[in-house]
Amino acid sequence: MRNFAFALLGAAAFAFPASAQQQQQPGFVVATNPAPTAPPVTELSPSQLRTVERLRAAALQDDNAWNIVESLVTEVGPRLAGSEAEARAREWAVRMLREQRFSNIRVENFTIPYWDATREEVSVVSPTRQRLVVAALGGSPSTPQGGLEAEIVRFTSMAQLEAAPNSAVAGRIVFIDERMTRAQDGSGYGAAVAKRGRCAPVAQSKGAVACLIRSVGTDPHRFAHQGGSSRQAQGASLPAAAISPADADLLARLVASGRSVRVNINIEADIRENAPSGNVIAEIRGRERPEEIVILAAHLDSWDLGQGAIDDGAGVAIVTAAARLIRDLPQRPRRTIRILLAGAEENGVHGGAAYARAHANEIHVVGAESDFGAGRVWRFRSRFADTALPHARAIQRQLAPLGIILGDNAASGGADIGDLRTAGMPVVDLSQDGLDYFDYHHTADDTLDKIDPEALRQNVAAFAIFAYLAAENDWDFRGQPAQ
Ligand code: ZN
Ligand code: ZN
Repeated sequence: MRNFAFALLGAAAFAFPASAQQQQQPGFVVATNPAPTAPPVTELSPSQLRTVERLRAAALQDDNAWNIVESLVTEVGPRLAGSEAEARAREWAVRMLREQRFSNIRVENFTIPYWDATREEVSVVSPTRQRLVVAALGGSPSTPQGGLEAEIVRFTSMAQLEAAPNSAVAGRIVFIDERMTRAQDGSGYGAAVAKRGRCAPVAQSKGAVACLIRSVGTDPHRFAHQGGSSRQAQGASLPAAAISPADADLLARLVASGRSVRVNINIEADIRENAPSGNVIAEIRGRERPEEIVILAAHLDSWDLGQGAIDDGAGVAIVTAAARLIRDLPQRPRRTIRILLAGAEENGVHGGAAYARAHANEIHVVGAESDFGAGRVWRFRSRFADTALPHARAIQRQLAPLGIILGDNAASGGADIGDLRTAGMPVVDLSQDGLDYFDYHHTADDTLDKIDPEALRQNVAAFAIFAYLAAENDWDFRGQPAQ
């Protein structure tokens, strides 16, 4: 929006040059305004400009990120939070980060409530018999042995469920059949994902026996999308599952036929307290201001139907390969660059919370996270103090050759650095093109082939340039002494 306003001002100034005669014309308002000046941009030194060139060129020919994500999804595979596979992912990460020759590599352990579905079956039992493709929602309790069977009541949105009288819901299985909007910036997700957390508690409060949702995704395929629900936080205890889009269509057709549609849901969940998880951390120690940290984050865990390639193996690869290019420069940057490969993001952002607690007294000058696949970065957004916006423009200018535009100053940062952001850390978004991200997100189809090696290299270039400029300069993104 901000760029659009500038463009309008520019066009007005061009159409009506502010000559002396025009200024005297009564009623000619536009020309009396001073011509808009270009917003200030922080200047970079010639040596920094050369280094940026070098990083960009190196990144665009670099297969390091590809090799990292290929190794993760091949040698470890799916890695559910708190599982033995996630523990192997931490061991893999420590080995990998050593091979990449970072410093201060360590695992910071914490424990989480563990949840895994060992059985997740949903079938239509009347008026026809068909097995559906489903994924139990994270946190769902088990059904009674053999499953539970009831009639479906369909709603096209959470709001419709909320408005429904208890009599329409009691004793039934609620089915929220709400679609998600496709968008480059993934903005359809916020609205669509609400049902994943809220279906079970709202349905329970109205006397329902279970909850089914149309998968939170943009594809029409027969893959169910996993995901956490906020059942535990909200005290609900209904079994809940996501059904594939094609199967949601099937249920909708059966309901539309006017007959009573009965479904059997059979979920067995393995639920434990105090399961082990951990964050893996590595650094390039700053040469002059090592206590000042530029943090690059991604998460190591994944849901377990697919390989966790786009979510978030790609992010692990992008931030690591970007930092590696900086590590290979003749001189380390002034500030420390810290890689955070967070554990247990998917079932509650436990790693990000543990990191923020453990490192609350450190100086985090700025942070970025890669957790939106590996589509080309198309936009750079900041969340800086107004006084630091010239630095944001300077960074974006160096990203422009990669096809990256300047966005607004309302960056979100990412889940694993969310608590740091809340505590005041400035963040940026290197916004990946997410037009097809939610076709694969949390499904069995999240596999390595969904990553385009060329787009992955462009991502590495963008993250490397941002991290280098943020760490090499003494820029104050907060606009006040950092803590
Ligand atoms: Zn993720
Ligand atoms: Zn995810």
